[in-house]
Amino acid sequence: MKNKIESFENLVDALEALPSIGKKSAQRMAYHMVMDDHFGAMKIAHAIEKAVQDIQQCERCGAMSEDELCPVCADITRDHSKLCIVEHAKDILQIEAGGDYDGTYFVIASVEHLDGGKLTDRIEEGVEEVIFAFTPSIATDAMILFIEEKLKDYDLVFTKIAQGVPTGVSLENIDMLSLSRALQDRVKV
Ligand SMILES: [Zn+2]
Repeated sequence: MKNKIESFENLVDALEALPSIGKKSAQRMAYHMVMDDHFGAMKIAHAIEKAVQDIQQCERCGAMSEDELCPVCADITRDHSKLCIVEHAKDILQIEAGGDYDGTYFVIASVEHLDGGKLTDRIEEGVEEVIFAFTPSIATDAMILFIEEKLKDYDLVFTKIAQGVPTGVSLENIDMLSLSRALQDRVKV
């Protein structure tokens, strides 16, 4: 098609591929960048490049990090005897935004990818409580049982976030206050 502005269409397609961006929003953003705000657009391009280059997974817990250890793992004032297991690194952002949790984290993408060695290494560093902060579902209940079984030889208290978190609703869609409360009101499993 001759009347297509190819680089504009490419930009729209790239933006539309992002989570929660529809065609119309993608078009609005692309138009804004190329027609209204060149400086802002270049700033975004630079920020994307830098973030993608600099951010890796924390060696210890799997969180986002710019260094070998993420800020939580590197922080000696955090309670390293508490280990909160989450499904995705992004769940940590959500819990940290609540600001009440003072322990540490471990990201477990799925049971199939469970790096048992890394988790047990972490447990052996003096963990006393394992907190499961999963989206409540039958699958995550099974995951909790599986991990508990794997860690049964350690002297641990297992808890999970309180039932205030509705079944099947992903943690990122739960408001911060509810998530903080669910963490505070965690129950034994
Ligand atoms: Zn870490």
